[in-house]
Amino acid sequence: MRRWLRGLIFLDVFLFFFGLLVMASQWITLPASGRVLGRGAEAKKIALTFDDGPHPTYTTLLLDGLKERGVPATFFVTGEHASLHPDLILRMQAEGHLIGNHTYSHLQLRADNRQEFAGEIRRTNEILYDITGEETLYVRPPYGSWDRSLEKELNMFPVLWTIDPTDWSCLNADTVTMRVVKKAKEGSIILLHDYYKTSVEAALQIVDALRKEGYEFVTVDEILME
Ligand SMILES: [Zn+2]
Repeated sequence: MRRWLRGLIFLDVFLFFFGLLVMASQWITLPASGRVLGRGAEAKKIALTFDDGPHPTYTTLLLDGLKERGVPATFFVTGEHASLHPDLILRMQAEGHLIGNHTYSHLQLRADNRQEFAGEIRRTNEILYDITGEETLYVRPPYGSWDRSLEKELNMFPVLWTIDPTDWSCLNADTVTMRVVKKAKEGSIILLHDYYKTSVEAALQIVDALRKEGYEFVTVDEILME
């Protein structure tokens, strides 16, 4: 057989198998795209966040309840309370919770105290680093008062919330639970305070109720990074 003819047959066979491969790859992508379509069936992510702690009694109760349920949460602690209860900070870290900064003394940012505010955040980061050996990336500014230029200056991300049941003024676990469950949707960030017994009770009721509705509780970074 002439060389050019052999080459042509080889090319033909090659193209035939190449064609098969292309077809096969389309078959392979079918279940893959099916999986993409099926993503709605995956658990809806939602995050519990707790401000102002740790509190020696209520944070302990909360950590017990979360551990029992295998649920992670995010704690925005003040430097003042963290330095009083480093054991609770270590427990949060060991049990897979995310720890964020809520200033040292619960200082609200105003037009005239920017440097003091930034100083409190730095001081709290140092306290947390001394306890955990880890950098703190997330900050929840008290009362949600924030200045975007601080993000670069402090190299931190602010984390606000989407559901606020005002648990600190309500002090009724059932009402707080109802307010949160009613508003819950995928990607919600729930604001609570582990400084009240009723808030801890509500938090655990919220976990039980929303898990039944197919929600998966995650630390807040998992929602922000989506
Ligand atoms: Zn607060």
